[in-house]
Amino acid sequence: MEFIPYSCQSIEDADVEAVVTALRSPFLTQGPEIPAFEAAFASLHQVEHCIAVANATAALHLACLALGLGPGDRGWTVPNSFVASANCIRYCGAEVDFVDIDPATRVMSVERLAEKLAAAKADGTLPKVVIPVDFAGLPADLPAIRALADEYGFYIVEDASHAVAASRDGVMVGSRWADITVFSFHAVKVVTTAEGGLCATRDPALAQRIRLLSSHGITRDPALMESQPEGGWYYEQVALGYNYRMTDLQAALGRSQLARLPAMHARRAELAARYDRLLAPLPVKLLQTAEGLVSALHLYVIEVDAAKTSATRATVFAALRDAGIGANVHYIPIHLQPDYRRLGFGEGQFPAAEAYYASAISLPLHPRLTDEQQDYVVEVLRQALG
Ligand SMILES: *Cc1c(COP(=O)(O)O)cnc(C)c1O
Repeated sequence: MEFIPYSCQSIEDADVEAVVTALRSPFLTQGPEIPAFEAAFASLHQVEHCIAVANATAALHLACLALGLGPGDRGWTVPNSFVASANCIRYCGAEVDFVDIDPATRVMSVERLAEKLAAAKADGTLPKVVIPVDFAGLPADLPAIRALADEYGFYIVEDASHAVAASRDGVMVGSRWADITVFSFHAVKVVTTAEGGLCATRDPALAQRIRLLSSHGITRDPALMESQPEGGWYYEQVALGYNYRMTDLQAALGRSQLARLPAMHARRAELAARYDRLLAPLPVKLLQTAEGLVSALHLYVIEVDAAKTSATRATVFAALRDAGIGANVHYIPIHLQPDYRRLGFGEGQFPAAEAYYASAISLPLHPRLTDEQQDYVVEVLRQALG
């Protein structure tokens, strides 16, 4: 059997045609596809302001900047995420810290957050920004985190890089609780623009700030200028921004992908339900999704259950890879990366994220995975687990 990746983009003729049409248009960079993609995303997520940018790492950086995060401030995220969730805090010159995960859901633990906030209040070290992550596509407990944000006065940047079209009780991710929600359209994510990201917010002032900072801090809007325009050529740089813009080619791909998302998500849901059924008898821990939550199903993660098998994560992972299955591990806890250890972090600080990491394996899950390939993954896994 050919190599089976853990994740893989789904590109069909409609996607190719959309990109080719944009390529033949007068615009490659800042053309009509970008606002059209932003409008389609805003409509899907029921959130008024969407700013498409180069990637989600840039979107996280812009979100923190727009909220005024800077030197002397603190930002918290979870250890169980991609490093970008924490790096954005450091890009702004702020101090980073972490909140442990809930082992059942693998997202930020509301209890750990509440404890840490109470201690920080006593010390005068409250965070300015907290970044929960919708790990694997499952929405973090944003209603509870919003209640704490209102009590302690921090901003929420929801890292929904995994969670395009996820929802809680019918409320789309990004539409209600967070100040700014960030999405990724990297090729392994559920919707792709090759590289790409987006900031979503209900706040028009934040949206304006993000847009400004995403393009050098330059404006052509006289309302934002400090002087009268000197002519049609005139623009002003009114803040120090970046070139974090998306291109029209990427936006065209994104819009085509959004149109195909319901079908792609339906296939992910079918495969995830199939894994749930086929893996139930095996010595692994599966995610129990709470009622009312719709996951984007970016990742399908199992945990090798040490109480029920002598196989280890390392032996199971090696067996999968030897069989041509691109299993992966999400995530090495961020605080254990060398660049974070140098800041003083180390083992034992976030035990739930560390324990989860020690047993976790991400199995292949993407719309192009066939039932036959999935059966093969399950068979290899069954043998490896003994
Ligand atoms: C992929 C990812 C990012 C970064 O996304 P890019 O678009 O590759 O910059 C950030 N956070 C999480 C949780 C991710 O999975």
